[in-house]
Amino acid sequence: MSVKAKLYNLRRTLLPRPCMLCRRGACIHSVPVCKDCVEELRAVLKEPCRFCGSPAAECTCAHHRDVRFLLWYDLPTTKKIVGMLKYDAKKERVEFLADRLAALCNGRYDGVTYVPRRPKEKRLYGYDHARLLAEAVAKRLDLPLICTLECHSHIEQKFLSASQREKSMHGRYHAFPEAVEAYPHLLLIDDVCTTGATLRGCSAILREAGAKTVSAAVLAKVQANKKP
Ligand SMILES: [Zn+2]
Ligand SMILES: [Zn+2]
Repeated sequence: MSVKAKLYNLRRTLLPRPCMLCRRGACIHSVPVCKDCVEELRAVLKEPCRFCGSPAAECTCAHHRDVRFLLWYDLPTTKKIVGMLKYDAKKERVEFLADRLAALCNGRYDGVTYVPRRPKEKRLYGYDHARLLAEAVAKRLDLPLICTLECHSHIEQKFLSASQREKSMHGRYHAFPEAVEAYPHLLLIDDVCTTGATLRGCSAILREAGAKTVSAAVLAKVQANKKP
């Protein structure tokens, strides 16, 4: 174990880590939540799909086949977890989520990449949450983390309709062809999949830049309203 890892473990033992859900209680064992929030975390991970009845991680519905995900975004607990990742990502919290997300990614990839955060947000919060998650997933899959996309847009996606999102993609992101050519089979990580427009758009941009396959994995996905 490196000196850095030893110091990190010592700090974790000595300093109480605040719960990622209530932000007050101290975390228990190896879980990033306090004893009062353990059930809430267990329940959100087990929440069934309204069509096939499986938890999000095991949902086999046709419209989800192209993307792996861990949680249903429609739940208040999921929104707290995504908010934590965006605004207050701590190492053990990211690692807890990456452990579970990486276990769902069983394809053949040359590298792990991510949908970059808007430059303004990155400056404001000091980090790129999708990159943090992608880095932790890459480590677990023993793959390199590749920076393949750059984000130019300053418009927040949630204010755009599905068709506006689709149209805005080519102006928002551009790919680095030399990175893509060296790693043609990519795993693309993002935080949330709402309409799927961002993942579809980024996959198309990566394929235009030379990617052979682009598989996607996100922390949370919005449940479909219609039966697949
Ligand atoms: Zn708590
Ligand atoms: Zn399902």
